[in-house]
Formats: sequence, C-alpha cells, structure tokens
Amino acid sequence: MRAAAALLLAASGATAQPAVPEDGPALLDARPLAMPVEGVRPQALHDTFADGRAGGPHEALDILAPRGTPVRAVDDGRLVKLFHSVPGGITLYQFDPSGRLAYYYAHLDRYADGLREGMALKRGDVVGYVGSTGNASPDAPHLHFAVFRLGQEQRWWQGTAINPYPALRRLP
Ligand SMILES: [Zn+2]
Repeated sequence: MRAAAALLLAASGATAQPAVPEDGPALLDARPLAMPVEGVRPQALHDTFADGRAGGPHEALDILAPRGTPVRAVDDGRLVKLFHSVPGGITLYQFDPSGRLAYYYAHLDRYADGLREGMALKRGDVVGYVGSTGNASPDAPHLHFAVFRLGQEQRWWQGTAINPYPALRRLP
C-alpha cells in the first residue's frame, strides 16, 4: 500500500515532504535489527510503548535483564551522543546509516570501553551494560530502548517516537 502510494506520487510529479515525517514505522521495518540486550529472546519482550510514566507517555521498551548484561547496537550507524540525564541516567544515541532514525539506550550501568561520539557502530557491537542509572528502580535493572524518526535537522534530542516492539518481536 505504501509503495503503491509512493508510485502514484512519483507518477503525478508530487513531492512528499511532510513537516512531521510519518514514514518512521516503515523505515524501521526495513532495518535488519538485532536484539539490543544480549540473551533476551523476542518472546520475552513486553510491549511497554504505550504505558504511562511520570512525566508523560513512555514511548519506549523496557527490557529487563541482570545488571551488567551487554547492550548491543541494534543497527549499523553512527554514535552521535553520549549523554547523562536525570531521568535516563547514562544514555547513548545512535543514528541509523541513513540518518533518519535515532536509537536511544538508557539506564546503562556504564558504557563499553572506547566509545566516542562520532564513531561508526556495527550492528551487534557492545555499547554498554544494563543498569539502573537515572530514574530506574535499583531493584529492576533494565534497558530503556527507544526509536525516533528524526526531522530534517537531524537533532538527536528531537524526533517522533516509533514503537520498536513489532520489529524486535519478530526477530528469530
Ligand atoms: Zn523505560
């Protein structure tokens, strides 16, 4: 359906440049993702995207795992920001190779050695370890994983959230 619509647009000479990109889910569907937490099976995931949280909608997945479990890059791309925030604790932002999607990893216990902003990441690279930094409960270490469709300005802090659950749930 989406491809057909794009063909129609191309045929009519129209350009599709919505102010707020709406193709995020399709972009994410096209990426060959990896599970961001080592040893977690897709069947064990819970869709926590629509949950309410203090401060607003969750718009992310919480993936529970023991503290220190390796966190891996879900995709190739570029590490754009290492950021410490009050709610997220130790966090990391990665862009996909096209620069249209951002992947956000939060509550890390620590980063992997040798990370630096601007470096290239390969899918499966260890970027950090599961923890409970920020506002996560110390009793329930987990990775808070989010995906954003970036705007044209490619600001790592600004995007439209996409639910990563369907893409991760169908991994083998
Ligand atoms: Zn969360």
